[in-house]
Amino acid sequence: MTASRLFRRAKIVCTVGPACSEPSTFRALIEAGADAIRINFSHAEHAEARAIIEATRRIGRETGRPVAIIADLQGPKIRVGDLPSPLRISEGDRCYFVPEEKGAGALPEGASRDRLIPTTYAGLAEDVAAGDRILLDDGKIEVQVLEVNGDCVEVEAVTPGELGSHKGINLPGVRVGAPSLTDKDRDDLAFAIDQDVDYVALSFVRRPEDVVDLRDRIGGHGLIISKIEKDQALQDLDEIIRQSDGVMVARGDLGVELPYEEVPLVQKRIITQGQELARPSITATQMLESMTTSSRPTRAEVSDVATALLDGTDAVMLSAETAVGHHPIEAVRVMERIIRRIEREGPPFPSRIREQPATERAAVQQTTSGAVAAAAMQAVQRLGAPFLVTFTRSGFTARVVSAQRPPVPILAVTDQSSTYRQLAVAWGVHPVLFEGEVNYRTMLSRARSAALDGGFGRPGDRFIVTAGVPFHVTGTTNMMRIEEL
Ligand code: PEP
Repeated sequence: MTASRLFRRAKIVCTVGPACSEPSTFRALIEAGADAIRINFSHAEHAEARAIIEATRRIGRETGRPVAIIADLQGPKIRVGDLPSPLRISEGDRCYFVPEEKGAGALPEGASRDRLIPTTYAGLAEDVAAGDRILLDDGKIEVQVLEVNGDCVEVEAVTPGELGSHKGINLPGVRVGAPSLTDKDRDDLAFAIDQDVDYVALSFVRRPEDVVDLRDRIGGHGLIISKIEKDQALQDLDEIIRQSDGVMVARGDLGVELPYEEVPLVQKRIITQGQELARPSITATQMLESMTTSSRPTRAEVSDVATALLDGTDAVMLSAETAVGHHPIEAVRVMERIIRRIEREGPPFPSRIREQPATERAAVQQTTSGAVAAAAMQAVQRLGAPFLVTFTRSGFTARVVSAQRPPVPILAVTDQSSTYRQLAVAWGVHPVLFEGEVNYRTMLSRARSAALDGGFGRPGDRFIVTAGVPFHVTGTTNMMRIEEL
């Protein structure tokens, strides 16, 4: 079997946590196929994150595999504060949300103290109005706003339940005024930049400006993945993705903010728009949820992963399965198995780009880069080339070619170690690190040796090279050549 046939196109992102903190388990996770390690700053402490980053880099070097690090910032997640004991809420009950720092002092006269719900967000009373819905604990409890009194939001329970401390609060349809980065996020971001992570994931993105603001803060220190989990983000999705370097279908919160039956269609929309703009997409949350306790996935979960792949996602993500589950390595193996089975059906691999009319949204495909990538696709087919090569500094060229979903592996040769790791999450890309003087001849020689060593082709095979010349200018792909191995 040729390397092209063995090569896995879709990538696997693993969230780390106590379940894989043992060094041997962590190594096994990467060896089993993790292409990216996600550190969730809602839970991880800096010392722990530092150790994970160090281990990932070391194992990446030892195994000769690029593994990307994604620092996932908690963002302005609104939560219930400390409750003295779980609060039993029955249908029709009145409750009072007040900022945790104000406590009972913010209650209106006559309101019962034992119906008080402290919140971590001081601006709640400014954002909501009578009639708005508030969802608690992943949407298990629903209340409706009756009245806003100063800092206090009086609500009536619609769906009952027992509310514990620190549970999440979602405000579907409400324009939340909280800043996109909290003090904690800014602290975590400074740490992530210092650690030279490959991606920063921004939670609860609402507007393109949230991404622009983060870009100003991180400069060139990492790429940005926008997590789409707010209904508000869908109103300006195209521009949010355009400002980002990647996008995540964060189905956990998204499925609370939106009616859950909307999520499959929104998933398709996010993946398609990501592909059109050449921004890799990651489909996340509850993909193999039952494997947190069971050694086998349910048929429905297998089908869900397959659907995301057929939708054209670049990567699939494991969350609790690898962070706190009982079978973290097995979960990665299950992902591998599903991806390989689905990819055995291709090519052609799922691409919406070729089906798209010339719309403004398809703008990336109508640029010089898009035209070169499309020509490269045609050349691969006409010549029966077993692989494609891109010379890339920022990764842009490789991402544009990847978005076309070519039928053969993309060997992305780069002299930048950050690009080498970042491309680990791009569909169909096999990153190759180049060391030495950068010019066409030296990069071609590296591509040839990587192709032969990896078994991607045989001497005499013709292959396609795309590049942006001059090499030091990023964001240009303006050249295609045919070479012989
Ligand atoms: C999600 O909500 O689906 C998600 C990925 O975010 P988090 O795991 O940070 O809640």
